[in-house]
Amino acid sequence: MTDFTALRSAVSGPVLTPADEGFAAESTGFNLFYAHSPEVVVGATSAADVVAAVNFARDNRMPVRVIATGHGSHALVTDGVLVNTSRLDELALDTGSRIATIGAGVRWGAVVAAGAEAGLAPITGSSTNVGVVGYILGGGLGPLARSHGFSSDYLRGATVVLASGEVAHASETENPDLFWALRGGKGGFGVVTSVEVELVPLPALYAGALVFPEESIETVLRGWIDWTATAEDDVTTSVAIIHFPPVEQVPEVFRGKTLAMLRFAYPGSTERGEQLAAPLRDLGAPMIDGLAPMPIANVAQIHNDPTEPGPGYSRGALLNALDQEFATALLQSVGSGVQTPVMVAELRHLGGATSHDVPEGSSAGGRASGYTLSLIGAPNPALFEAVLPGATDALLGTLADWVSHETNVNFAGSPSAADFPKAWPAETFARLAAVRAAVDPQGVFAYGPKEA
Ligand SMILES: Cc1cc2nc3c(=O)[nH]c(=O)nc-3n(C[C@H](O)[C@H](O)[C@H](O)COP(=O)(O)OP(=O)(O)OC[C@H]3O[C@@H](n4cnc5c(N)ncnc54)[C@H](O)[C@@H]3O)c2cc1C
Repeated sequence: MTDFTALRSAVSGPVLTPADEGFAAESTGFNLFYAHSPEVVVGATSAADVVAAVNFARDNRMPVRVIATGHGSHALVTDGVLVNTSRLDELALDTGSRIATIGAGVRWGAVVAAGAEAGLAPITGSSTNVGVVGYILGGGLGPLARSHGFSSDYLRGATVVLASGEVAHASETENPDLFWALRGGKGGFGVVTSVEVELVPLPALYAGALVFPEESIETVLRGWIDWTATAEDDVTTSVAIIHFPPVEQVPEVFRGKTLAMLRFAYPGSTERGEQLAAPLRDLGAPMIDGLAPMPIANVAQIHNDPTEPGPGYSRGALLNALDQEFATALLQSVGSGVQTPVMVAELRHLGGATSHDVPEGSSAGGRASGYTLSLIGAPNPALFEAVLPGATDALLGTLADWVSHETNVNFAGSPSAADFPKAWPAETFARLAAVRAAVDPQGVFAYGPKEA
């Protein structure tokens, strides 16, 4: 039994073991399926608390992991020290340089709101409930991906507590290897306590979603795939086939229905946005047409991702160029009339700015790919281990001809130990491993799935 007395006296925030009240709330986040049981969870209130937790873990040979919002929980934590960063809520925007300094506990929603007041926008993800730091460490592909690129392209600096307990700053000029790794390499380098992120001017946004009924799913998917082949670089779209469960939490208009949602974002005038969206509107008769000029503060309404915590299962892959044979294969597995445990199959169009790396280089995986594919399971925990791994394996097998050799760690869901390195191109994964070995030679930070 480890004695946590010294840790408790070194840390201002809560230090809780499984026997303590509040442990479950402190160690669990958005994905309620993962009720983590580390030996101790540290609710950090400052960088000094993080340093104390890392020093204690290293000296006691305990692995360190991080939780901010729990949106990225994909494996159960059953040992070591879990550092909860949700109290690190610093947020300061310098409107002159357009750089926001953002604490590790801040979610995108707060940055969107701060930027909107100044006519600026962060390159956020689809859900503004997700944590800025966890998201950006994986690269980050959001509703403006094709016009603006990966969110990590806008990372300008990060403050990191390293395995040695040293607090380092990484940027293009300070610790450049670590900075390269933090722009997409995700974890295992240290605990990031804050980041500096550049916001962009976004005077106009034409965006939203078209919701098509079940009978239009096939024509929408097929038409969208053809349309993406020549889509303008500054338009970002995605299509999701959604089998809404017949439960009360789902709004009545969607409850129990299978629908296609086509999301669209164009950072420009309404007139041009309408011209660009016209062929998509013509793909069927939308039951809801939500495309309109949008204040950036409402950016989360493009995807309308869930905001309430619940049990979640997801798998993902990146895809190369798509064709009509792909559409046939996908529709046979998750299309109209198919009984499937996969609740959502979502395709996001990449390319445009996502294909160009920043001049100094970054570790974000997926620049050579054409689309993301996310498979989200029905939110029934009984299916998570018994049914969904087999069902999603089979589906990914059916789509193997289109699956890209690399993926992106934010879209990988729960990769196996064998699949984990494929979240990056091979040479990127090798360089990430070298950076990890340099900054954390003892392997204090646990990262990546364990061999079965
Ligand atoms: C509803 C939903 C929508 C999403 N939308 C998008 C999207 O549009 N685009 C996209 O790219 N991804 C998206 N994601 C994936 C999301 O970016 C990842 O799950 C991300 O890891 C979430 O980060 P978090 O901090 O919120 O979650 P957490 O589960 O708290 O953290 C996830 C991981 O990030 C790392 N981490 C977090 N904070 C720190 C820190 N301070 N220091 C070091 N490591 C840290 C750790 O490895 C941790 O395990 C979405 C996920 C969900 C559930």
